[in-house]
Order: sequence, then structure tokens, then C-alpha cells
Amino acid sequence: MEKNITATLAGALKKQKYHLIGNHSAVKRCKWLHESIVNDRPCYKQKFYGIKSHRCIQMSPSLYYCTQQCLFCWRAQSGDLQITWDEMRFPSSDSPEEIVQGSLKAQEKILTGYKGNPKADWGKFQEALSPKHVAISLTGEPTLYESLGELIRTFHQKDFTTFLVSNGTLPAKLSKLSQEPTQLYISVCAPNELVYKRVCRPQFPGAWAKLNETLDLLQSFHCPTVIRMTLVKELNMKDVDGYAELVAKANPTYIEAKAYMHIGFSNLRLGFESMPLHNEIRYFAEQLADKTGYKIIDEAQESRVVLLSRLKKPIQVGKS
Ligand code: SF4
Ligand code: SF4
Repeated sequence: MEKNITATLAGALKKQKYHLIGNHSAVKRCKWLHESIVNDRPCYKQKFYGIKSHRCIQMSPSLYYCTQQCLFCWRAQSGDLQITWDEMRFPSSDSPEEIVQGSLKAQEKILTGYKGNPKADWGKFQEALSPKHVAISLTGEPTLYESLGELIRTFHQKDFTTFLVSNGTLPAKLSKLSQEPTQLYISVCAPNELVYKRVCRPQFPGAWAKLNETLDLLQSFHCPTVIRMTLVKELNMKDVDGYAELVAKANPTYIEAKAYMHIGFSNLRLGFESMPLHNEIRYFAEQLADKTGYKIIDEAQESRVVLLSRLKKPIQVGKS
């Protein structure tokens, strides 16, 4: 990416409180880290899987780069802010150790703000200073980063749990991952190719077939797997049969049906009214349960998300 473009983009992202690391990574404070420390309201992943929101780093090794341009995405996409760049052209890579160290430093910086905050829970603040979980999910497609497996391994060696979120368009990279994450998420945000092209806007031909390849190989993973559906009103909440076929192919441990949230740069592409209500997500999940044989095992109204599984209870992967 050209230097002047990087500088303009970086400036815009810093304003949105992104902490930039090296050439292609970033950490951003998750709203739920704040909610957990200040208001004792953790995220739904703490409720479901036991990871601790106040000890979680939200980061990406692929800040500006992705194989899709989903309408609902909160990241800055080429064309937003009148800046264009090739989102598929990943730059020369920083090392996993540099990214991990940069992430830890950024998290420390984020947390200093709570030192003098009378509303902060002191015990949680102290624990937060030793993070235990990393959500590799902030923006972009992480499998574009060549050393992703090594990055995960480096976090694990430091006693972190990792959740990796991928859009599944690069199955060759996923199948060669040298280290599995603690939990693997694949985003499936369309029930068929037509909707996929309209909503997820893939940046190369044949991406739908690649996503399907990923779904085929999902069962070869040993870690718990999740199909994550980000649902947008009027756009991708139809054709439950199509979604059910994709679920059958992948046989994931869980399905998370979640409402689109009108935040970040998605505001440039979708309106506030595109956010489904929790009861609409619940209705969709009930239909999906009916078609797939999965059961609704939990939900979190404040995040408008419903969890489905064949398990009776989700596996607790979080460390204390
Ligand atoms: S797991 Fe996700 S939602 Fe929960 S605190 Fe971490 S980044 Fe935020
Ligand atoms: S795959 Fe993820 S990062 Fe890429 S455009 Fe879609 S939502 Fe954004």
C-alpha cells in the first residue's frame, strides 16, 4: 500500500481507537471489556464458553486486507473515505512474536485508562493486566497472513486461549494451519451463491466454491467449530433450507445466529433499520433448529445472538 494512503487510513483508524501494530495488525478495545470492568456485564462468549471478557485482547493480523467486502462489515474497506487500495495484496509480513508483543503492549495501554477510574472493578482491572484470551477477529481475513498458525502457537505458548474468525474463502490456508485455535469460527452469511455475491461481495471469482470447500473440511478440525451467521434484515435472513444444507455439510459444534450491528464503517453501507431485533434472530434460529436438528442451547438478548448445538451445553474453554 502506498505510504500516503497508509497514513490517511491509519489516521482515520486511530480516531476510532485502533492501536496499530507494525505493517498490518491492530488491537482495539472491545466494548465488552469495558462493560465487564465497569458495569460487570461480560460478553456473550463469556456466558457461552467461559472466556473472560476483561482478560480478552481483540486483534487482527490483517487490518486492511480481506477477500470479501461484506456490506455489514465494520472495517474500513477500499472506497470508504475516498481511499482505494488492493485489499488482496498482503504486504511483507511482520513476525508472530512482533505481533504478539505489540498486542500485549497495546492492551496494556488500553488498560491504563482504568487505573484512575472510580467505576472500575479493581480486582478485574488487576486480572485484566494479565490477559488470557485473544479474539483474532477484529477486521480483515486473518488467513491472508502467512504465519497465522505460528501466531496462534505463540499466543498458546503464553498460555492464551484463541478464537479465530475466518470467512472461509482460503481453504488451502486453513487446511495447512500449523496450529489450531482453541475455537474456530467460519462466517457463513448467505444461504446461496446469489445472496453471497450481493451481501459478502467476494473479491475473486469462485469464492463461494472455496467457502464450500472450507465447510467440507471443517470436520477435520479437532477444536470446537462454529458457523457464525451475521444476519441483516431484508438481505440474508431468507432461505433457511440453504443455510441448513451448509450446516449439514460442515457439521459444526455450534451455530451462532447473530444480528448485524450498525457500527463502524458499516454505517456507510447499511441503515439502522437493517439491524434485526432479538426476537427476529430467535425466530430465524428456531427455523434453523427445525431444519438442522440442532437445538437452541443459549442466547444473549443484549447482543442479539442465539446459540445452537447438538451438545446440551457449550464446552467451557476459558481459563480463569
Ligand atoms: S470474546 Fe469477543 S466480544 Fe468477548 S470480549 Fe473478546 S472480543 Fe469482545
Ligand atoms: S469477511 Fe469479515 S473482515 Fe472481511 S469484509 Fe466480511 S465481515 Fe469484513
